[in-house]
Formats: sequence, C-alpha cells, structure tokens
Amino acid sequence: MAGTTVPAMDTAALTALDRAHLWHPFTQQKGWAEEPPLFVERAEGCTLYDTDGRAYLDGVSSLWCTVHGHGHPRIDAAVKAQIDRVAHTTMLGLSHPGAAQLAGRLVEIAPEGLERVFYSDNGSTAAEVALKMAFQHWSHRGEPQRTRFVCMRMSYHGDTLGSVSVGAIPLFHSTFAPLLFDPLVAEPGDAEDLRRILAEHGEEIAAVIIEPLVQGAAGMLLHPDGYLRAVRALCDEFGTLLICDEVATGFGRTGTMFACEQEDVTPDLMCLAKGLTGGYMPLAATLATAEVHDAFLGEFHEFKTFFHGHTYTGNPLACAAAIATLDVFEEEATLDRLGPKIRRLAALLEEHVAPLGAVKEIRRRGFMTGIELVEHPVEARTGHQVTLAARRRGVIIRPLGDVVVLMPPLSISDPELEQLVTVTAQSIAEATSASAALALAA
Ligand SMILES: *Cc1c(COP(=O)(O)O)cnc(C)c1O
Repeated sequence: MAGTTVPAMDTAALTALDRAHLWHPFTQQKGWAEEPPLFVERAEGCTLYDTDGRAYLDGVSSLWCTVHGHGHPRIDAAVKAQIDRVAHTTMLGLSHPGAAQLAGRLVEIAPEGLERVFYSDNGSTAAEVALKMAFQHWSHRGEPQRTRFVCMRMSYHGDTLGSVSVGAIPLFHSTFAPLLFDPLVAEPGDAEDLRRILAEHGEEIAAVIIEPLVQGAAGMLLHPDGYLRAVRALCDEFGTLLICDEVATGFGRTGTMFACEQEDVTPDLMCLAKGLTGGYMPLAATLATAEVHDAFLGEFHEFKTFFHGHTYTGNPLACAAAIATLDVFEEEATLDRLGPKIRRLAALLEEHVAPLGAVKEIRRRGFMTGIELVEHPVEARTGHQVTLAARRRGVIIRPLGDVVVLMPPLSISDPELEQLVTVTAQSIAEATSASAALALAA
C-alpha cells in the first residue's frame, strides 16, 4: 500500500490503512483491529467531526490539551501569520521573537520566583529536563551526592525512561523496571511519610517531584488541602528542590491558571505542556528559578552547560499558538468565567452520575473529573464500554481503566456541559448493566 493516497473521506480505505500500518499508543492492537476506528477529520469549538460527517462532543479536550476550543479564530490567525514568516528555526545558537515573548509571558503568569523558561516538545521531556536540571544543579552546587528523587505513589510524569523512573503506576511502569533508576516513593497526601523519607535520605535527594493537587493519570487522585504547601515546606526544611509537574493541571484545568497558586507555592522547577499551546501544537516548557539557573553559570572550561536540547525545541508555530492561547485567556476572561461552569459541572455530576449504583466515587478538582466505577472484571473493559456507549450518543471520552475521565475544554458551553454529563451517566448505566449481565453469564 506504500505511496497510496486515499480520498480524505473514504472511511473504509482509511480503516484498511490504519489496520495495516498504524500502531496506536496505549492501545492493545488486537482489540483495536476488532472495532471500527473513528477518524476525526475536522473540529470546531468543542465538537469533533468524523470522516462520515458525524459530530461528537470533545469530552476530554483531545487528551487534556484543548483549552479554548478547536479552531479558535484568534489562535488560528496567529499560527497562520507565523507560518508566513517562518515555520521552524533553531533555539541552538539562535533565538526568535515568539520564544522570547512567550518566555516573558509565562514568567509573568507563573508563581513568583520562576524566571527562566527552557523549551522542549512534550510533557515527558518537560519532566526529563526538570529531573536532569535538578540533578546537575546539585553537582554544580557542590552536593554531588544528591542523586535520588522522591515521587508519589501512583504518580505519572510521562513515558520516556527518566519520567517513567519517577512514575509509580505499576500497570504502566513495572515492565520497564530493569531499565529505570530507583526513586523513593511517598504516600500522596501524607506529609509525615514524606518527612520520614527526607529525614532518612535527605542528603541524597535531588528533588521531590509531584503533580500538584491532582494526580491525573492515576485516575484523578486528589491531594488533601494543604498537602502541597506541606511538601514545599518539607523540601525547604531538608534543603532539596521541588518539581511541580503541571503538565495536566496547568492552564486553568483545576480552576486557576496553575494548581500551585491554590496553595501559594512556588516550585523550584515547573513543567508545562498539554494546554500550553491551547492544544494546537506539541510544545513544553520547564520553568526554573534564578537559583537553579544560576548554578549552571560558569566559564566554558568548567563545562557547567546544561547539555540537553531537542531539535524542534521552542518551535515558532507552537510559540505563536501558545502566545495566542494566553491572549485568549485575557481577552475572554476565561478564568473568571470558569467558576460558574465548575459549579455547574459539580451540580450536574451530583444530579446525574452520583446516584448510579455502578459509581463508586467521583473525584473532581475544577474541570478535572474522575468517575470511579465499582469493580468489574478486567475482561469486561467497563471503562472502554462506557466510552463506546458515549460515542454512540455523540460524545468522546477516554477512560483510565475503570475510571471514566471528563475534562472538557474550558470554553465548553452550559448546554454542552449538560450533554457531556447526561450522556456519560446514560453510558455508564448502559455499559454497567451490560457488563453485569456478562458477569452473570460467565
Ligand atoms: C500527560 C502527562 C505527562 C506526559 O506528557 P506527554 O506530552 O504525553 O509526554 C507528564 N506529566 C503529567 C502530569 C501528565 O499528565
């Protein structure tokens, strides 16, 4: 089939190509081949359209990325204007206006004290960069024994080997154990556990890495109020760095621009990706304090350079999309308008989802929502069945195992929010009665 071109709308031909040649991420290919794939051909606002012209509500922001909706005129225009100037140039040895302007904007909105912006391309690399910066920083500061990291149980920081090393979701991470470095794992929400680890190993610790307030990939695990502040205080007490991975929580997802703000915390390093470009382009940033950055200053012969950089780092199209995304936050007062929507989401969940017998717990912070279903056999793939039932009703969601995740774009309207929650409730009811029947038959 190599070289074959297919008319954009020919779903059957696309299906054949997909089945013959694609390998999808986080996907059991055998199961994939047994279900008809859905090809998203275009999108507008919170609606995705497939190759057969069917419309679907984007209930998970295209995997937690889309912020102001698809095809936002302001962001579209910024990317189009940039493509007429230059699509790509390098950050190695050169700079470009968008990279500098975006850095200034990010420092302006980030927690006070974060002053430097190092670009990469995705959340995993943003975490890798933070880990390597923390590690090398200590070597320059004359504490080379600080080589270890503390992460949280059920943490997720990406899929490259460094970020997997500080990941603690057994299903995703245990396969690769022989390839990984060995972090100390703290019980999230339990400051005394972290204190015990730091008291025992404080001198060896380069940094504590945490997803602030919400551990997304774990299934929207929520930290108790005050925990992040306690983690910051413990890092200060034991003289180690704090890395906040805001890849999922950043850009309004928890109700404020960054989750750290809610506990008045400035991390030493902060990772951004997913929503950074409004969901338009792969771009990530690792923000650092002057203290961390300045540890790398030196004469050339001292080799204190941070030897790390990705080819497409700080791509100009992506920077243009990110700047426009921040402009839209201001122009549309997105965060001010979010509060009522969050309350609406909470009320809808309470009304339609909470009463369902198949729902064990609803965990939510801002728009980040995890609906944990009561236990079903793995082979029932209940979360997946909910997804398929929702799709038949015109809503796209993607579960984490048997946790149904909702994370709509911040631009979602009230009627769309209502559609999202009611369809989710109907789909849970349908899928769980079907899998209950399956269990009985077995
Ligand atoms: C998604 C995610 C990542 C990984 O980002 P990618 O762009 O998929 O590499 C890292 N950290 C957190 C908290 C995430 O949710």
